[in-house]
Amino acid sequence: MTQVMPDDLWRDFPKTATEFEARFATEADCRAYWIEARWGGEPACARCGSTRVWTIREGTTFECADCGHQTSLTSGTLLEKTRKPLKMWFRAIFEISTRRTGISGKDLQRIMGFGSYKTAWSWLHKLRAAMVRSDSEPLGPFVQLDEALVGGKGSPHKELVLVAAEANGRVRLAHVENNDEGTCKRFAEGQIAGDAHVVTDGHAGYNRDSLGERRHEAVVQTKAERRESDAVQSCHWTISLLKRWLVGTHAGAVRDKHLQAYLDEFAFRHNRRKTSGAVRIAARVIEQLVAHPPKTRRSIIDATRRCRWLGSNHAAPA
Ligand SMILES: [Zn+2]
Repeated sequence: MTQVMPDDLWRDFPKTATEFEARFATEADCRAYWIEARWGGEPACARCGSTRVWTIREGTTFECADCGHQTSLTSGTLLEKTRKPLKMWFRAIFEISTRRTGISGKDLQRIMGFGSYKTAWSWLHKLRAAMVRSDSEPLGPFVQLDEALVGGKGSPHKELVLVAAEANGRVRLAHVENNDEGTCKRFAEGQIAGDAHVVTDGHAGYNRDSLGERRHEAVVQTKAERRESDAVQSCHWTISLLKRWLVGTHAGAVRDKHLQAYLDEFAFRHNRRKTSGAVRIAARVIEQLVAHPPKTRRSIIDATRRCRWLGSNHAAPA
């Protein structure tokens, strides 16, 4: 797949709702942007790579002049097989990106006028899948590491989440089974730079084996000391924002098996809160939608991604 320079794309992205409406007024406008994001403006045959293609089926598909293969605009992307116009998807992307705290399935259903909540839900999950992995640079140089229990309102059990946070910077979150040494090690390896200085509390899982060569400061604090100067304050702030977001935007209605997807969305927004803003988020989401392989509703439902980063058959994100 052709890689385009996303910076030019997002710089050009509409900045207000009015600009957005004007820029993406028609299906053709949205397709042009999609083609720009996916192929750098020049669509190519998915089978042979030829750019000698013409549009068929009202512009939703290209047919190759060389091999006859038909390539749909959305095939091989997260939006594969969508029956809805791109214009609707762009609208949903704008909504999810411009609301600082995101959007719930119910909100999206109402805004888009979907007949069923299930449709809104699966749209949100696809968009959420596009909200990961666009920054893979490990955290550093000063990183705090902590864990928290997160659970839905009234939920009998809580889920464990590992949190790594740069001081006033980016965060990474992982839904994990436990915080033993091996788990902490996999998390640190994937998310924290090898030369980072890491601050933790006194938990035994944070040690030489799990953190390797990184400089490690284990700070054991009493409650009073913590009130004075919290050694892992960025983590604690992140956790409290996360909990508020889960309850506020999603009414605590997050199933355990989908928690990682919500954590990814939270981190994605959090990590872009200062520099990029809504516009950049929306452009990034589109860029990720074209780059990600398809996901069916079934596959979303079946994906019990309890430990997407840490489970036996999943590699940590690069
Ligand atoms: Zn071809």
